[in-house]
Amino acid sequence: MASAASPASFSLHSASTSRRRAIPSAAAVALRSPLRRLGFAGFAADPVLSDHVASRILAVAGRSGRGPRGLASMAKRSVGDLTAADLKGKKVFVRADLNVPLDENLNITDDTRIRAAVPTIEYLISNGAKVILSSHLGRPKGVTPKYSLNPLVPSLFKYLGIKVEKADDCIGPEVEKLVNALPEGGVLLLENVRFHPEEEKNDPEFAKKLASLAELYVNDAFGTAHRAHASTEGVTKYLKPSVAGFLLQKELEYLVGAVLNPKRPFAAIVGGSKVSSKIGVIESLLEKVDILLLGGGMIFTFYKAQGLSVGSSLVEDDKLDLATSLLQKAKSKGVSLLLPSDVVIADKFAADANSNVVPSSAIPDGWMGLDIGPDSVKTFSDALDATKTVIWNGPMGVFEFDKFAVGTEAIANKLADLSSKGVTTIIGGGDSVAAVEKVGVADKMSHISTGGGASLELLEGKELPGVVALNEAVPVAA
Ligand code: AMP
Repeated sequence: MASAASPASFSLHSASTSRRRAIPSAAAVALRSPLRRLGFAGFAADPVLSDHVASRILAVAGRSGRGPRGLASMAKRSVGDLTAADLKGKKVFVRADLNVPLDENLNITDDTRIRAAVPTIEYLISNGAKVILSSHLGRPKGVTPKYSLNPLVPSLFKYLGIKVEKADDCIGPEVEKLVNALPEGGVLLLENVRFHPEEEKNDPEFAKKLASLAELYVNDAFGTAHRAHASTEGVTKYLKPSVAGFLLQKELEYLVGAVLNPKRPFAAIVGGSKVSSKIGVIESLLEKVDILLLGGGMIFTFYKAQGLSVGSSLVEDDKLDLATSLLQKAKSKGVSLLLPSDVVIADKFAADANSNVVPSSAIPDGWMGLDIGPDSVKTFSDALDATKTVIWNGPMGVFEFDKFAVGTEAIANKLADLSSKGVTTIIGGGDSVAAVEKVGVADKMSHISTGGGASLELLEGKELPGVVALNEAVPVAA
């Protein structure tokens, strides 16, 4: 077990020397792996960000009253704090997010999440642990063969370079036998944990059964950390220590770091379909950013609130007052909130629609805005030129249709360009990740979040139950 004297790498409360010592250990593992697209190299290259985060959290945590208490309390113990002495021969339950997309022949079409899980597993096996690997896949209702984790085995073999055993269930005597047969440095993949409905109910008995397989717990499933499920939260009551994996750690370093102590100027780009689904994010970011650029379907609610006609564009009529109050809030906070000055309009919602570019104030009846226009791209790009940190969530238009993907692609390219100039660029999950992948610039970004819902909740300033449940980082005396 790591004592208070051992370095607590994810301790955002700990002294910078201990952080410095431990971060390279995570990065060293990561760098051996083909993970550049996930930006692990950027993590290694950005110890300053980690220091900023830590000092800011210390400052904020020490204050009373309002403040991101939730974020401060996310200073968690890391798997990197556990040494070979802690891990050798130990059975470690690792909850990863291996929820990869499969085609109809059960081939993995995007293995990003598997690659993202590799550094933690490699660290554990290289320190002699016995890894019991758990994940969900899809939304099965009971045992559903098409959601079996069997197709993941060859891919894990490919990235880990060792044979991975696979159990047909995640609890029970057969699983126990396989666990007991695991050698040091071995990996056993459990079957889809959501084949048991008790998982999502966070059933204590089920959690106990999962936990009984192991001695220690590592949560590396950032994508499900916003859910209190048996394998993400329940098991922590029975396994000590319960620590954060390297992926979870990195997600928090960037998403919490960006929120608490960005290098300024700090810009956020928020797009997507509806303002209603991004209210929390916009409100939270308005407290932190210097510049807020808005795009996507939500802009038409803002235009209508300002008395402009929006044709048949997507509008949330019940959110007009909200849009007005967000604009006022931006003004009172001194945030430069930019709405697109021109839009690409379409005569129908279709890939082959007729299109035209018009000023935002001149959308004709019967036409809908499906992308930001070229003037807006230029204005947004110019605004971004001065920034040091940019966080992006949500596409600028209906990027699924090539004709209306130009604005989104231009922003993706702009962020890639800024990254190469040293700007910290963070892609906050969901469709913006798909956009940067589509443009082929994912490997240029500082960080690409692997969790859509979880990253949104973090950006809203919420606590993630799967993180809260982990053991606190061990404070290190200064
Ligand atoms: P979200 O999940 O809220 O980030 O929204 C992503 C979706 O917003 C994508 O599927 C886009 O097609 C959609 N979207 C972006 N711009 C528009 C627009 N102008 N009108 C309708 N939908 C849009």
